Amino acid sequence: MNRKLHGIHAPHRKNTADSVPKRMPPPPVITVPMSMNIGAPAKPVVKAGDLVKVGQIIAEAGGFMSAPIYSGVSGKVKKLDEILSSNGRFDTAIVIESDGQQTLYEGLTKPVITDQKSFVDAVRTCGVIGLGGAGFPTSVKLNVDPDRVHAIIINGAECEPYITSDTRTMMDNADRVVMGAQLLQKYYTADRIVIGIEDNKPQCIEIMKEAGKDVPGFEVAELPAMYPQGGEKVLIYNTTGQIVPEGKLPIDVGCIVINCTTLAVIARYIETGIPLVEKVITVDGSAVANPQNIIVPVGTPIRDVLNYVGLKTEPRKVLYGGPMMGICVPNLDAPILKNTNAILAFDEKDAQDPVPTPCIRCGRCVNHCPFGLMPAAIEQAYNDRDGAALKKLKVNLCMECGCCSYGCPARRPLVQINKLAKAVLNRYNQEQKALAEKEAAKKAAKEEAGVHGK
Ligand code: SF4
Ligand code: SF4
Repeated sequence: MNRKLHGIHAPHRKNTADSVPKRMPPPPVITVPMSMNIGAPAKPVVKAGDLVKVGQIIAEAGGFMSAPIYSGVSGKVKKLDEILSSNGRFDTAIVIESDGQQTLYEGLTKPVITDQKSFVDAVRTCGVIGLGGAGFPTSVKLNVDPDRVHAIIINGAECEPYITSDTRTMMDNADRVVMGAQLLQKYYTADRIVIGIEDNKPQCIEIMKEAGKDVPGFEVAELPAMYPQGGEKVLIYNTTGQIVPEGKLPIDVGCIVINCTTLAVIARYIETGIPLVEKVITVDGSAVANPQNIIVPVGTPIRDVLNYVGLKTEPRKVLYGGPMMGICVPNLDAPILKNTNAILAFDEKDAQDPVPTPCIRCGRCVNHCPFGLMPAAIEQAYNDRDGAALKKLKVNLCMECGCCSYGCPARRPLVQINKLAKAVLNRYNQEQKALAEKEAAKKAAKEEAGVHGK
């Protein structure tokens, strides 16, 4: 296949690639938010004063597009609280005081899996969501007609600078990743199981090749290290050559894309009955004294994580995730979420906002965009609040990868503008819909009047 890759070559900064994750001692308190997935928030099933153990359910799924939540510590529920999330919204959270014992809940049982339905049910009960960052409930993704699946693509690209938590999962738990792949192979009709890994991780590639060598149809795709290689549509294109059409999903081209850590968590649940209660995270950045990978209970305050690894200086900016797509944490009491794969803390120098200068029409933003969008034109349309133009420019396809901003010599905040432009487009679409409904109602009323007038 002759494919032209678009994207950027950002410095990899995989400083923690050799850091085998250490389990951090349980923090005194965890704060577990109910909205950690795309879709409906979970509903608490515990109240202040209840005693809980590791792996015990504390919140049930709030609907089909949701996931249950389990305690990552043993201890006592202190309260149900309201906390500020990184998206600016308030969310209910369960605050649990740890007893430091990490006693495992005795009611944990391994799921009984006999067919695709019971497999999907087990994935749902496990509480797992897209752990690569997306946060889409995995059971919903897997709840498809198995005959429609031709390729299962395991996302092991880990293309964001700094982050190595997926790499460590593949290196330290390769058997679980392969076991997850075999389960998918068993319950879906895929001919191919491809794990996509960037070629800047040669050791990881070798380990996964060795682990999967006896699995029919299992292949390791060595992908050029180019951001955003791990973007879902980019990965599908670069591993199968297929383009996911606008408005369609991977399953519409016969693909399921699943993150390697998500798969390992599912395999662990099936093997042990322990649901998703903890995360491997990379802690790095210029303010961090000892960058490393650690394992922490979901809900651990970021302040405790940073104190554990040590700081060189007071951080000026702290991110959930990588420098390209990461989101600023609202405060250091904010918790580790199910889909947190890294905490990056930067010092004053690295936290400076770039000063933009006028666009010089060089076209680099178009060249860097994986989808060939035109960020400079989108900026102009956004400034004009021109919804029709934004629709034509297809800003809705923007995956907010940040390649355009990264490559812009004028340092324009293109990705930030794209996010705002999407809101303008949404409003425009709503107005257009309301207008069309009004016109249709008018027409129907006219026709009705015509009928009665006869
Ligand atoms: S990369 Fe920056 S300067 Fe070049 S065309 Fe795009 S917005 Fe303008
Ligand atoms: S326009 Fe969107 S998808 Fe394209 S490079 Fe910029 S952020 Fe990425």
